[in-house]
Amino acid sequence: MKIICIGRNYADHAKEMKTEVPKEPVFFMKPDTALLKDGQDFYFPDFTSDLHYECELVVRIEKVGKNIAEKFAPKYYSSVSLGIDFTARDLQAICKEKGLPWEMAKAFDHSAPISNKYILIDQVNLSDLHFEFIQNGKTVQKGHTADMIFSVDKIIAYVSRYMTLKTGDLIYTGTPAGVGPVKVGDQLEGYLNSEKMFSFSVK
Ligand code: MG
Repeated sequence: MKIICIGRNYADHAKEMKTEVPKEPVFFMKPDTALLKDGQDFYFPDFTSDLHYECELVVRIEKVGKNIAEKFAPKYYSSVSLGIDFTARDLQAICKEKGLPWEMAKAFDHSAPISNKYILIDQVNLSDLHFEFIQNGKTVQKGHTADMIFSVDKIIAYVSRYMTLKTGDLIYTGTPAGVGPVKVGDQLEGYLNSEKMFSFSVK
């Protein structure tokens, strides 16, 4: 399986990163070794001193598809979850400055924690989902799918022009404003539509 991540999909986050709101979806990838299942501890990596959380709605692909038309995209997923796109912000800044790929800042082991729970789409309204990220008991990010610049269907149509989507692939759909650093000892929790999705600590 592969993990596809969308960058700058919320205008308020693009603003806080001092970057433009994109006209087309921006995507990058993480390998399967980036996954960290809920309940497992995250160990702070030794190659960064500025690790940021980015809490994101995650869509699981259910069916193989290529060149998927936007109107048919809903046939390719039936559930969503919640995860984190961990980013070594210091390394990312170096990559950006030099015009290099982002993998060392974004695709490292356990950079993609994911809930073990999935919420079925037919039980919710995908354009009316809210999620929350809590660091040490304090809410630091709040997101709402209505604020996405590119909808899940648009993302699927766009990405599948370039690469075949396969069953089990995960799409991290971008983070809202409020990103910030994590440190050893932090307790991190995520809620999707008020349901607790993950809880783990940074060691
Ligand atoms: Mg992200």
